[in-house]
Amino acid sequence: MTKIKSIRTRVWNWTGPTVPPQGNFCTNASDALGMKGDAMESFRFHQWLTCEVEADDGTIGIGNAALAPSVTKKAIDDWYAPLVVGEDPFDYAYIWEKMYRRTQAWGRKGVGMTAMSAIDIAIWDLMGKLVDKPVFKLLGGRTKEEIPVYYSKLYSGPIDVMQAEAEEAMKAGYQAFKMRFGWGPRDGMAGMRENLKRIECVREVIGYDKDLMADAYMGWNLDYTKRMLPKLAPFELRWLEEPVIGDDTTGYAELNAMNIVPISGGEHEFSVMGCKNLLQTNAVSVLQYDTNRVGGITAAQKINAIAEAHQVPVIPHAGQMHNYHVTMANTNCPMSEYFPVFDVEVGNELFYYIFEGDAEAQDGFLQLDEEKPGLGITITDKYLEHFEITE
Ligand SMILES: [Mg+2]
Repeated sequence: MTKIKSIRTRVWNWTGPTVPPQGNFCTNASDALGMKGDAMESFRFHQWLTCEVEADDGTIGIGNAALAPSVTKKAIDDWYAPLVVGEDPFDYAYIWEKMYRRTQAWGRKGVGMTAMSAIDIAIWDLMGKLVDKPVFKLLGGRTKEEIPVYYSKLYSGPIDVMQAEAEEAMKAGYQAFKMRFGWGPRDGMAGMRENLKRIECVREVIGYDKDLMADAYMGWNLDYTKRMLPKLAPFELRWLEEPVIGDDTTGYAELNAMNIVPISGGEHEFSVMGCKNLLQTNAVSVLQYDTNRVGGITAAQKINAIAEAHQVPVIPHAGQMHNYHVTMANTNCPMSEYFPVFDVEVGNELFYYIFEGDAEAQDGFLQLDEEKPGLGITITDKYLEHFEITE
């Protein structure tokens, strides 16, 4: 029997060059605070956590998390690792329940579930390596020849800059695009018009035969979104993402029921139960959990089954291999979000600097290598000079 010997966590603090923040590049939940100056700061994530689960034969599975990495590290080191060390990684369902139930008083969402996710992903990577199979082959196998991806960037900015970026993305072969809104409730009618101008400018470049989505990153509210939806209708968005804060399930449901623009969300939801609530209340037309927040691959597979039964497609938040493997293995996951490889800006793209082996999009699709066991990534030392690592 294989046993888990140890769990190693490291926080990677990016100290390398970053693209400086610019005004109105993306609304976010802190906008409602009414304070000037710090909104952009709260929308940057320049830390990452790696979680390595080692088996007694020396094989190492790699997981990761990007939410509150230093606190998540502490949760793993102090609470979760002792529950997992000594177990057989192939008892992953039992290990998951053990982590979940032993921390029921505080661990169900947020940092607790993020810590569980990182460990669970590492366990799946480990299992794949131990049986010499890619993870998607353990989950249901190949459901599509390759994974269509959507280009996810187009932060709000000057119109000519956004149009140039959209043109580049078109040339690179993408068939679907997601942009960000830069203005929200505090910017009034004038801000609404700025938002609309930017959707129009992107549509001008990509036309109406390609999918366009837009993300408010919880920076709007219910009233504002209700006023915006009719104005957005002519632009035929495939979805409007996270118009309100993650806890406002009834707000999502109300907006989705208006049936003007499909509403999406879930990247700030946690666990099987949390996603079940979103689905049961018809809160979202597209479910976008992130595997490294929602409870790892073990939870993601259960959520996928519930979503499929509700006929709600799952398009996980962010790129990254744990999400791609899940997407490949589920018919109900039609495509993946894809962050183009880019200089460090918001921090979304930091994983490209920590791992080697992430699938790269070609002509709007990506492929998973059948020959690479596990998730197919390794930790790289290529950019070590740009990180301060806490162990
Ligand atoms: Mg989003």
